[in-house]
Amino acid sequence: MTTLSKLELLGLNNQELTELVVSFGEPRFRAAQLFDALYRQRLASLEQISTLPKSLRSRLSSLGYSTGFPGTAASFLSQDGTVRYLVSFSDGQSVETVWMPEGDGVEDTEELLPGAPASPSAPSSATNRRGTICLSSQSGCAVNCRFCMTALLGLQRNLSPGEILGQVLLVLNHQQIVIGRDRINLVFMGQGEPFLNYDNFIRAVQLLVQGAGIPESRMTVSTSGIVPRIADFGREPIRPHLAISLNASNDVLREGIMPINRKWNLDTLIGAARDFPLRSRERLTFEYVLLSGVNDAPENAREVIALLRGIRAKVNLISLNPGPGIPFQTPTTAAVELFQQTLIDAGIPAYLRRPRGLDIYAACGQLKRTTQLVALP
Ligand code: SAH
Ligand code: SF4
Repeated sequence: MTTLSKLELLGLNNQELTELVVSFGEPRFRAAQLFDALYRQRLASLEQISTLPKSLRSRLSSLGYSTGFPGTAASFLSQDGTVRYLVSFSDGQSVETVWMPEGDGVEDTEELLPGAPASPSAPSSATNRRGTICLSSQSGCAVNCRFCMTALLGLQRNLSPGEILGQVLLVLNHQQIVIGRDRINLVFMGQGEPFLNYDNFIRAVQLLVQGAGIPESRMTVSTSGIVPRIADFGREPIRPHLAISLNASNDVLREGIMPINRKWNLDTLIGAARDFPLRSRERLTFEYVLLSGVNDAPENAREVIALLRGIRAKVNLISLNPGPGIPFQTPTTAAVELFQQTLIDAGIPAYLRRPRGLDIYAACGQLKRTTQLVALP
């Protein structure tokens, strides 16, 4: 299987494609054609790459090369227009990728309190369609947060760069998105912990920017708090925005719901956040999953305020999305609004993340390759 995946072209950069075509005795410009065909034109099979001579295409495929485009094992359409794709790879492993139409990603899925200024996102006339793709960086996850359904899978394996970006290309093709006309956001918030598959994640980002033409300013990565990687990430010349899954207001609470806190506690995590080199006008995002009676009291909000003092940050509040095997409850609307208002009163921008695709298990923390849809409690 591993030898097979080495022959997948998706994930190779310009230099590697050049080495490949040169090793075949072909001129170097063939690499640029291949790069364009894979990432910009999103051609899923070698036969479709008509810019390459037929002889080269057949030679590539007779040697076992393929584009490496992933397939769709299943897809589920939600009442709200969200689509959850079960994306499968050459070794039979699968992950989930979610398409959320219209919403302007992290920004538009947030709702401000009544009376707060509207978000400045008037669609430009050149924009036809808008949507957000939520993609996976690993199959399953090892971090084992107690409120997350992906944790129940355990870690299956890391995804390769081609498998990470292939999810995006697949959804763009399926939704017939035109880059440059339509406005697309990417959020690395599906299955897995991106910073535990750091090199492959970064390479996927680079190819999505340079090849597929999606600006990094339209991408956000979320980490559960892999502290050394937060520092590395700050030094990347090409990087998405950063979101940190805070989820608790003190160490006792956080250790109870996120075992990773034993390795990197709040002091270390908040220290890394303080040191993070934000670009001008950029803010850090802190995500906070509200669990009824666990971390949703006004006292918790006050602790969050103290933690974030002096950091240019905003908070995305996510009411727990329930699921089988998750031993927590969704808080009441009143508790959520009080929590939000407490943060806002202290000058911290706080938004409510509207759940998308709840009915098809596509919302945050629900990605577990569910193929049978059962009614939620
Ligand atoms: N592994 C990364 C990114 C994927 S999880 C991380 O943890 O940050 C994306 C977001 O979903 C995280 O902020 C996480 O806290 C949140 N989440 C996980 N399970 C959830 C659930 N059941 N309900 C609501 N949000 C959840
Ligand atoms: Fe992994 Fe994120 Fe789920 Fe935690 S919340 S188990 S880090 S996917």
